[in-house]
Amino acid sequence: MPETDFSKTGVPAASIRHNVMLSSLSRWRIGGAADVVMTPRDESDLAAILRYIKAAAVPHVIIGDGSNLLFDDAGFRGVIVHIGRSFGGCDISPDDATIAAGAGFWVPSLVRHSVNAGLAGIIHAIGIPGTLGGLVVMNGGSQRKGIGDHVVAVEAMDYEGRLHRLEKADLGFAYRRSVLQDGGLVVTRVLLQLTPGDAVALRREAISIMAARRAKFPKVRANCGSVFVSDPKLYALMGPPGEAIEKAGLKGLRMNGAQISPEHANFIVNNGGAHSEDVLRLIHEARARVAEASGIWMEAEVRHVRPDGVIRPAHISAAELTASLSSDDRCPAPL
Ligand SMILES: Cc1cc2nc3c(=O)[nH]c(=O)nc-3n(C[C@H](O)[C@H](O)[C@H](O)COP(=O)(O)OP(=O)(O)OC[C@H]3O[C@@H](n4cnc5c(N)ncnc54)[C@H](O)[C@@H]3O)c2cc1C
Repeated sequence: MPETDFSKTGVPAASIRHNVMLSSLSRWRIGGAADVVMTPRDESDLAAILRYIKAAAVPHVIIGDGSNLLFDDAGFRGVIVHIGRSFGGCDISPDDATIAAGAGFWVPSLVRHSVNAGLAGIIHAIGIPGTLGGLVVMNGGSQRKGIGDHVVAVEAMDYEGRLHRLEKADLGFAYRRSVLQDGGLVVTRVLLQLTPGDAVALRREAISIMAARRAKFPKVRANCGSVFVSDPKLYALMGPPGEAIEKAGLKGLRMNGAQISPEHANFIVNNGGAHSEDVLRLIHEARARVAEASGIWMEAEVRHVRPDGVIRPAHISAAELTASLSSDDRCPAPL
């Protein structure tokens, strides 16, 4: 990282931490040290940080809750900008069925607020552990839905510290995709349009979605949710990614501390001491075996953060890593 003095941003020292283990910022609990983590308290802090990052050409990564990120064991030589709880706040207008909320707002709480206000539309996101900003960037959701369906507009900051309002048409929402993934803007606030519903019925639906998730997904081990995105062609041949991986005989496959979950094969769990390389090798093995059976190479939903700060779908890093290993050093077949 270039020579930096973050005190010049005017951001208080308490919001700047040095040498932070990225494992503490990821749901996978994997990752070496980042040089600096900055947690802006408000838009004015964020503007100062982004201007400084641009002027000093500092490698950086924006994160929310880290629930979709695989950090590298080699860590990150740059600055993590953490959009957390201070970017909260949630204004509900039951009359026009809209919600405006901060990018750091916790998604399950946001959905609970919408349910209590009798507003329908985003209940599918009730069990997704992340920030609203991260959810919008990833166009996350469940039951094959995405939050983008209900986004009216997003407020986002550029690296000059200027705020922009982007309308839904500007955001390029597609399955688990938005133009916000291309970088250049930090989401600060989101406006959602919901529909009036019945709070009691919505509450019942929320409970049933949570019960279904609890029954299906790994309970205890650290994980980052579904590893692969569903592909309609693969779905027709072998089912969703978890079923395809299971049919390929890989459920339970271990690579040191990482394991394809014995509960749901589209999850990789950290049983303790897993390294980023272990996860990447399991990702590659799952793709390769499913491709042998179907001719289709699955793509990852989770993102790998390289030590140089490039964020990309983890299967690309997995393929690169595996190509660099000799064939007799590949992932062993499941027992
Ligand atoms: C147990 C578990 C279950 C999950 N279930 C689901 C599910 O059902 N459906 C689903 O879609 N996902 C699921 N996920 C994945 C994850 O929760 C979502 O992708 C989530 O929306 C990511 O939010 P985050 O705040 O953690 O973002 P992060 O993981 O921190 O970041 C994700 C991406 O968004 C970018 N980003 C984050 N915040 C901002 C911002 N304010 N401005 C600009 N860029 C930003 C980051 O740079 C990164 O590229 C699950 C994860 C876990 C651990």
